[in-house]
Amino acid sequence: MKKVVVTGITGFIGSHIGVELLNRGYAVRGTMRDLTKASHIRSVIEKHAPTTHLELVEADLLNLSDWKAVMQDVDYVQHVASPFPRTIPKRDDDLVKPAVDGTLHVLQAALRAGVTKTIVTSSIAAVLYGKKNMYRDSTYDEETWTDHEVIADTTAYIRSKTLAERVAWNFYENECYGKDKMQVSTVLPGAVLGPILEDDYGTSAEIILKMMNGSLPMIPRIGFEIVDVRDVADLHIKAMESPHADGQRILATAGYTTMASMAQTLRQAFPDRKIPSRLLPNWLMRTLGLVDGSVRQATIEIGAERKANSAKARNLLDWQPRSPKEAIITCADSLINQGIVGE
Ligand code: NDP
Repeated sequence: MKKVVVTGITGFIGSHIGVELLNRGYAVRGTMRDLTKASHIRSVIEKHAPTTHLELVEADLLNLSDWKAVMQDVDYVQHVASPFPRTIPKRDDDLVKPAVDGTLHVLQAALRAGVTKTIVTSSIAAVLYGKKNMYRDSTYDEETWTDHEVIADTTAYIRSKTLAERVAWNFYENECYGKDKMQVSTVLPGAVLGPILEDDYGTSAEIILKMMNGSLPMIPRIGFEIVDVRDVADLHIKAMESPHADGQRILATAGYTTMASMAQTLRQAFPDRKIPSRLLPNWLMRTLGLVDGSVRQATIEIGAERKANSAKARNLLDWQPRSPKEAIITCADSLINQGIVGE
């Protein structure tokens, strides 16, 4: 039985990857910062997969020494953990340091322990941003990188994901490439929706939650590339299993969707609910951004249609993601089933 380390198994994406690996017959060693969460996470995963071969251990991205023991007798690593907070941190380094140092620590420990392949969860954040205005409306693929030095078109989170992926590829080129050592691939999801597995719902379901519970009275005129979390998990495992993914960046997106269209999907699926339909003027969104950090982060989307082409995942790995509509509706359903949004 092959063993896979999943870093950040407590998170939205990490828990789905853990579930999918267990269901496909892998043994899983999941990491978390605080082992007191272990029994809760085990009980969440148990509802969706057999857990006889699930081991839960403690490790912090900031401590290299934690990772040596984690990597013992392991075949593959899924490095998913990275801070993805709902609010803007006081200092860039609160995000950048754990993202960058953590990626390096995980890769160093994995290489030393003789791991065959590590998949690093990056993000469309490392592709679609850091653009001058005229390049913001475009469809990009894996050839493009976010320029983290264009501060006006990035946030601390975007900078953290870009720099972390850069570090992963520098490590690969210097330590692995051409040396018959560990392989590395990066998977770059769009905004991840789909079913949440527990009431600690992470950051990405927040957008659906706000439309469902009435805390977003008007809809911003912005949009995102969307993907279902189950397809993100599937692509991580496909990338791990296929040599075609070795040394590759792979975008994971199912389609660009405006928030207005998300709201319309929700209105059709939940006709008895009051889902907002009025559009928020851009000037008002910018003004709100002056006092609300999470709105401020989203203002860089105003007037931009940033799209990503996921042909590589589809052609190279036969990846067939669900539609954005399904990702939106199952996310909303799961928020109701978990009791986060009232019936
Ligand atoms: P969550 O917030 O749900 O999960 C983040 C995970 O990272 C948690 O398990 C958390 O562990 C762990 N983590 C954070 N800081 C540290 C640290 N210092 N040491 C160890 N573990 C840490 O986020 P998601 O599941 O949504 O995101 C997972 C990954 O996917 C991230 O890399 C994110 O950037 C990326 N991504 C997410 C997208 C999305 O829309 N959700 C889109 C594109 C990429 P703990 O329980 O200890 O806090």
